[in-house]
Amino acid sequence: MPNDLLAKVMDAAVYAALKHQYQRRAGYDRLPYMNHLLKVANALIQIGKERDEALLLAAILHDVLEDTDATHEELALRFGQEAADIVLELTDDMSIPYMERKWLQVEKAGQLSEKARKVRIVDKATNIRDILSYPLDWPLEKKKNYLDNSMQVVSRIRGGNSQLDAWFDETVQWAKQRLEEMEKSAKE
Ligand code: ZN
Repeated sequence: MPNDLLAKVMDAAVYAALKHQYQRRAGYDRLPYMNHLLKVANALIQIGKERDEALLLAAILHDVLEDTDATHEELALRFGQEAADIVLELTDDMSIPYMERKWLQVEKAGQLSEKARKVRIVDKATNIRDILSYPLDWPLEKKKNYLDNSMQVVSRIRGGNSQLDAWFDETVQWAKQRLEEMEKSAKE
């Protein structure tokens, strides 16, 4: 990784860590929110072999507009217009109810830029793994819906990086098995 890229990625990590500092992941044993952002950026680097600056900055910052008081202008000034625009693409309107928001993600997936697509695919795979790995008081039906919805989103945006696509597919296979096991143990 070129030194300049390393410096910018680290600056984004520190910025995101501060912005999300009092947030925890839903249910998951109060996991720090930052864990999620690092996992997403790391999967793009390690699995996807991605080294594009705007892409990696956007990966770390992808929830900062949705969940904190950060603004698009602030991101553009500090991290560049392209990274800021990718984050904006990945920001849901939180005033819309949960289920509707998830289906809007499917409907609008095709409009995402190439870089936003990669972040979205990894975001979905990472969330699926977390939802089925950590204690979370969602009904099984909601966990299944999350998987189905993610598969629909990704089916519309895959093709930009075959390693990331393959990792998502592996995640889906693993998740289906996990859900089956959870269903069985719920019946016992
Ligand atoms: Zn996310």
